[in-house]
Amino acid sequence: MGKVHGLNTEGLWNGSRHTLQYKIIGNGLMGKNCNIKGRQRVLISGGAGFIGSHLCDRLLTDGKEAICVDNFYTGNKENIIHLMDNPYFEIIRHDITFPLYVEVDQIYNLACPASPVHYQYDPVQTTKTSVHGAINMLGLAKRLRIKIFQASTSEVYGDPEVHPQPESYWGNVNPIGKRSCYDEGKRCAETLFFDYHRQHGLKIKVARIFNTYGPRMHPNDGRVVSNFIVQALLNRPITIYGDGSQTRSFCYIDDLVDLMVRFMDSDDSFPGPLNAGNPAEFTILELAEMVLELTGSRSEIIFKPLPSDDPRRRKPDITLAKDHLGWEPVTPLEDGLRKTIDYFDDYLRQ
Ligand code: NAD
Ligand code: UDP
Repeated sequence: MGKVHGLNTEGLWNGSRHTLQYKIIGNGLMGKNCNIKGRQRVLISGGAGFIGSHLCDRLLTDGKEAICVDNFYTGNKENIIHLMDNPYFEIIRHDITFPLYVEVDQIYNLACPASPVHYQYDPVQTTKTSVHGAINMLGLAKRLRIKIFQASTSEVYGDPEVHPQPESYWGNVNPIGKRSCYDEGKRCAETLFFDYHRQHGLKIKVARIFNTYGPRMHPNDGRVVSNFIVQALLNRPITIYGDGSQTRSFCYIDDLVDLMVRFMDSDDSFPGPLNAGNPAEFTILELAEMVLELTGSRSEIIFKPLPSDDPRRRKPDITLAKDHLGWEPVTPLEDGLRKTIDYFDDYLRQ
């Protein structure tokens, strides 16, 4: 016998990990059955990073418990400090290349450095995080028989020869270049996810995320949006690599997180892979000009050598996301950039 809100109760686990059926045997409700549903407990590996911290916010807002697992390699406590007092938020400092034993209901696997500067800093560790990390997270999901989401990437398409990129395209990836630790690591992780799905019947959701931007990006991670905004706000030269004619399609963080949650909670029969991005395509020169205009900066534009294997064009075909989830991004680049500029403006003032 136990107490729930002062009532005398008899509890019986009904099979679902957090749903305890109480038969209330005290006071006026005696004899009626009442379900007290526990919060779904969600593990977010890489939860202290840019995307992970926004996902933690969203899951908590949705009434879930968020367990953030992070080794703070590129993540930052500042990203999650506002959640520290929330009783439904927890942090576990842990490197996912080692096994982890916790009891949860869902896993979002996001842990991995994402910017070229960060993932090329220690390429062996990047591959280990993608591959060993995936094996450990998949093993956890298998033991618990729970659904697991993988943050894959548009980099699995490499320097694409098909444009825009549909999920059916197998990509054009250099296996031995400087980006390979990330590209091939993420490709191997996709293979592992689909093999666990086929071999063990694991429920998986694999999303291929395209360039995403917004508040809480790392100011020094070398990514184009954060670089250009910080440079513009400080009136320093805007560094365009190559001639700026290469393209990217930029998705605002809120749109991406919305897709991730919808995908995770969608029918188990659809494992993906699913493109997650905004199909509006811009050249890097157009992005630089937009940032200059929105910040009113006096920065000049300068041109630097293009890094090796830098993809020429990138744009997601999002037909699958529209058809399966009724999802489309709603934030135009200009609106998202304004919010991101406000964030970096505050950040730099501090
Ligand atoms: P991020 O670097 O801000 O976040 C990654 C997080 O993972 C950090 O908090 C870092 O400390 C943590 N981490 C790294 N290695 C770890 C390890 N071994 N164990 C535990 N934690 C570890 O990057 P992000 O932009 O938030 O990206 C999150 C995920 O989304 C990554 O898997 C990335 O590959 C994927 N992705 C991001 C983008 C994008 O545009 N931001 C695009 C495609 C895919
Ligand atoms: N880029 C640039 N100047 C910068 C940083 C990046 O011109 O200061 C270019 C980079 O060469 C690439 C594009 O912007 O063509 C996007 O780079 P990012 O590192 O943001 O992402 P990714 O290459 O992984 O898409």
